[in-house]
Amino acid sequence: MTAPNGPLADLRRRLAEISDLERMAMLLAWDQEVMMPAAGAEWRAQQRATLERLAHERFADDHVGALLEAAVAETPLDEDLLRVARRDYDKARRVPGDLVEELAHAGATGHEAWTRARASSDFALFEPHLRRNIELRRRYIACFPEADRPYDALLDDYEPGMRTAQAEDVLERLRDGLVELVEAAAPSADDALVTGGPFPTDAQRRVVETVLRQVGVDDARWRLDVAVHPFASNFNASDIRITTRYNEAFLGDGLFGALHETGHGLYERQMDPLHYRTTLAEATGLGVHESQSRLWENLVGRSRPFCEWALPLLRSHLGDPFEAMDVDDLYRGVNRVELSLIRIEADETTYNLHIALRYELELAMIEGRLEVKDLPEAWDEATHRLLGLEVPDLLHGVLQDIHWGAGMIGYFPTYTLGNLMAAQLWTSLSNQLPDIEADIAAGNFAGLREWLRENIHRHGRKYDSRELLRRATGEELRVEPFLDYLQAKLLDTGQLAGRT
Ligand code: ZN
Repeated sequence: MTAPNGPLADLRRRLAEISDLERMAMLLAWDQEVMMPAAGAEWRAQQRATLERLAHERFADDHVGALLEAAVAETPLDEDLLRVARRDYDKARRVPGDLVEELAHAGATGHEAWTRARASSDFALFEPHLRRNIELRRRYIACFPEADRPYDALLDDYEPGMRTAQAEDVLERLRDGLVELVEAAAPSADDALVTGGPFPTDAQRRVVETVLRQVGVDDARWRLDVAVHPFASNFNASDIRITTRYNEAFLGDGLFGALHETGHGLYERQMDPLHYRTTLAEATGLGVHESQSRLWENLVGRSRPFCEWALPLLRSHLGDPFEAMDVDDLYRGVNRVELSLIRIEADETTYNLHIALRYELELAMIEGRLEVKDLPEAWDEATHRLLGLEVPDLLHGVLQDIHWGAGMIGYFPTYTLGNLMAAQLWTSLSNQLPDIEADIAAGNFAGLREWLRENIHRHGRKYDSRELLRRATGEELRVEPFLDYLQAKLLDTGQLAGRT
């Protein structure tokens, strides 16, 4: 049998090769986080940069342009593929290969510098690397001179099609709604997940493994490891890698972290196999990706039915303090609203205020209104203004997140977009799955998994996130469903006085 001929077949072969190169670069990144000895960082940075440059060169060359011109779609799937590949190609052509390599290299070394700066709590070790990342991002932005605002080009990489003005509108309205809600809330319960410890790591791991198995994580296709900054990677639908981190003083880190990353992993696991090794075999945007992780972490994991299912499990593996607790205690505990300094430990209600802070600062750095040397001070000021808290040290402040060091600027808003979408999706899916609460209380997640496969996961990049949301919910992106959901939960857990 001979391989198919013609421009479409040639293009598919080329895209498959590029997809392989990109997945190899991801594998090196996974290895760096999970396995690599720290001293390997400099060489690893070179290796990742080389792979990313090769992938970029193989894609952005004239030959691919000619194939895109000549290829004729034979099926509707081909049409989707050609449309998405054309969009990527037009974007990639704008960016010189040298700059792609420099961005990758600066991201890897910046990541390493961030780790060292954290170890010695010294912003000066990080500052030149962040300055370099900002400078390179400005050069990247300059490749797209027609953009309305400089930040548009960065946002578009993570949330294709979204503009700064749109993100700003949503984020600001949400911020104002949240500030009001947090002011009105009065946390009543102690969070036993915090105060009841210590929780031995081995016992936590057993809880996490039991929960994940029930959700759909199997040993043949998934790996669960420990990483300082938890994340999910996938190399194909049969090789999904997630990480979490265990904190003996706080059960939430390990359990909810693992559920979160599982939500990301399922997206990739349930993609249509026809998309494999093409440009369609990815999430349509990080907002949608994050909607999946938030949905499992919060809408499922912090729901009352989930507490009902999980409480016996927590009792059997961790004993006290869960023996004395009833479902309502646990439900109140995992939903306790409290202003805090660390984003990834923040509760569902205050979480997006952390994103508002980061978005404000990164936008100011990109638009030249804030210099990197003034960042720690600006961070502390914004923390005071939005969260009402004083920052005691850099680890509880500006050095807590990996993103800026790794060059990921324009990424933060996607977390909030994900939270908003998750609330909208939940409304829609609970209408279509009337038994969802009873299923969750029984530890049965198959119906939910299937709904997500059908409505979100399988499509890959076939629809942009706006179209995907519209198809799944009949709506545009909205702030209100999320605010309503939070308000209902706070009322339900006695943290908000009912309207009189
Ligand atoms: Zn996530």
